[in-house]
Amino acid sequence: MQTASRDLRRDGKRIGFVPTMGFLHQGHLSLMQIARQNANVVIASIFVNPTQFGPNEDFSTYPKNLESDFALLAKAGVTGVFTPNDEMMYPKHYQTYVSLDQLPNHLCGISRPEHFKGVATIVAKLFNIVRPHVAVFGEKDYQQLAVIRRLTMDLNFDIQIMGGPIIRESDGLAMSSRNQYLLPDERKAATCLKQAIENAQKQIRSGETRGPAVITAAEKFITSLPHTKLDDIRMCHTLTFERI
Ligand code: AMP
Repeated sequence: MQTASRDLRRDGKRIGFVPTMGFLHQGHLSLMQIARQNANVVIASIFVNPTQFGPNEDFSTYPKNLESDFALLAKAGVTGVFTPNDEMMYPKHYQTYVSLDQLPNHLCGISRPEHFKGVATIVAKLFNIVRPHVAVFGEKDYQQLAVIRRLTMDLNFDIQIMGGPIIRESDGLAMSSRNQYLLPDERKAATCLKQAIENAQKQIRSGETRGPAVITAAEKFITSLPHTKLDDIRMCHTLTFERI
């Protein structure tokens, strides 16, 4: 991959990069399109990164369908797909990790303590392997996007980071490879996330200035539905994730 990228760069090509864990859907493909619009060649990666999964998470059962992924990527005009295995990325004696001091102390980082360290490490490695000019990440994983913007600046990667808007199903649920885990009733309940955000927006736009009132209403709405459990809900700064 490094050799291919070196040759592409030597030929004056601008390389766009979209890292994924595979089992691709329209959300991923929208990022490929953004990469295509901002580069001459697009490289995607498919790697289910073990270091970003917690001990009780779905690493071993994460859905896979490489054949369908390759077909979708070819149709999306992607030039190359980098699909390393665990041994290539984390060989014996591997011991170097990238971790951020502050961003992971909020939201998802609280319930998934090692998650962002795994994400930051694999993204830094992929950046050094693929050597892109521009890399695209989804706003669906907003905290991840913030972590990647921060690490790109902190480690001086000469890479432009772009965010792509959330692509949703027709009922508002954000597309996700993990949606297939949901049983029909749970799938229905999952739309409460988008509804809660929209309700909060409506309250604020119509003049509600008390943050806690908006949060409490969202909390009540979500927990009153079957199949829901609240992990975290807050208003926070869009760059630091500090509560506001
Ligand atoms: P994943 O395969 O889940 O690691 O996701 C790979 C990339 O696709 C990440 O940058 C995600 O944020 C992005 N992504 C996943 N789902 C969506 C979606 N529904 N809309 C936009 N981007 C997405």
